Amino acid sequence: MSRLKLFDLEEERIKQEISRLGAKRVLVQLPQGLKNESLRIAKIVRKTGALPIISADPCYGACDLAIDAAESLDADLIIHYGHSRLLKYEKIPTVYIEARAMLNVSEVVDKALSSIKDWSRLGLATTVQHVQILDEVKEILVRAGKTVMIGDAGRMCYPGQVIGCDYSNARSISKDVEAFLFICGGRFHALGLALSVQKPVVVADPYEKRVYIIDENDVHKILNKRWACIQEAKAAKSFAIFVGLKPGQKRLEEALEISKKLENAGKETCLLAVREFNPDVIMEISSIDSYVNTACPRISLDDSIRFKKPVITTNEARVVVGDLSWEDLCSSGWFGN
Ligand code: SF4
Repeated sequence: MSRLKLFDLEEERIKQEISRLGAKRVLVQLPQGLKNESLRIAKIVRKTGALPIISADPCYGACDLAIDAAESLDADLIIHYGHSRLLKYEKIPTVYIEARAMLNVSEVVDKALSSIKDWSRLGLATTVQHVQILDEVKEILVRAGKTVMIGDAGRMCYPGQVIGCDYSNARSISKDVEAFLFICGGRFHALGLALSVQKPVVVADPYEKRVYIIDENDVHKILNKRWACIQEAKAAKSFAIFVGLKPGQKRLEEALEISKKLENAGKETCLLAVREFNPDVIMEISSIDSYVNTACPRISLDDSIRFKKPVITTNEARVVVGDLSWEDLCSSGWFGN
C-alpha cells in the first residue's frame, strides 16, 4: 500500500479549518515520512484561496512547532502533520492533523497472542497514529482471557498514547501489569517504552505485520552504554550545555541549573543554543570534552554511537554531579515522567 493510503491526511478538515479561521497564508509542517505529500497538500491549501508554504525543515515532534518560521513568513495559520498537540500555548493558530494510520490491526494482534501467552495482565500502549484502535485491540485481548489496562496520566492527548520522550501513560499502570503490548511501527518508540517501564514489551507492528519482543537484555544493552557514557563524562574537564531553540525543547532554567552544578563540581562549562543537535554540531566544537543535551532526550540515547565524545541528558548530568543516583535514574523511567 502506498504511504498516501496508509495515513488519513484529513483533506476536508484542512479546507474547513482554513475557511473557519479565515487564513490567508498557511505554513505546513510535515514529518519526514510525509514530506513527499508536499505537492498534494499545497494543492489542497491553494484551492481554499490561501497561500501554502511547506516547511522543508526536519520535524520530529510537536515540540518543534514552527512558530518562528511562521512569524517570519507572516503566516496566519500553521498546519502541523503527524503529531498531536504538545505545547499548551501557541502564538499562532495551529491545526494538528495527526495522520492516523488506516490499517487493520486484528491480524497482527492475533499473531501477537502466542508471544503474550505467559502473561495474564497486560498494559496497552501506542503512538497517536493508532490510538483509535486501542479499544478494538483491548477487546481481542479480553476475548483471549487477558486483563488489559490502558494508562492515562493526563499529560498526553489520548489514553495509552506515548511519544518519544513521554511514557507517563504506560508508567502509570506499569506496576499493575506483567508486560506491555505495544502497537507501533519501527523500534524507536518501542525501545523508549521498554527503557521507561522496564518490563517486557511485545511489539505488534501493523505496517510490517510483524511481532517481536524487546526484553531485559535489550534494555540492559542500552543501560550499559549509558553507564559507560556517564563514567566518561565524569572524567571530563569541560562541558558544553546545549539549550534547544525549538519551542518544546527550550529548557534554559534546567541548563543554567546543571551548568552551576557542574561548575561547583570543578568543571568548566559553556552554554550553547541549538536548533538541530547532531554530531556535525559537535564536530565544530571538538575542543570541549563532554556535552549535555537539555533539548531532546532521545538524541543522546539513540544517536550515541555517532557521537565521538560523551553526550548526556540532563538527568545523566545529575548523576555526574552526584545529585541523582544511577539506581534512581533507572527507576525514574529515564525520561523523568
Ligand atoms: S523532544 Fe524529542 S522525543 Fe520528545 S517529542 Fe520532541 S522530538 Fe520527540
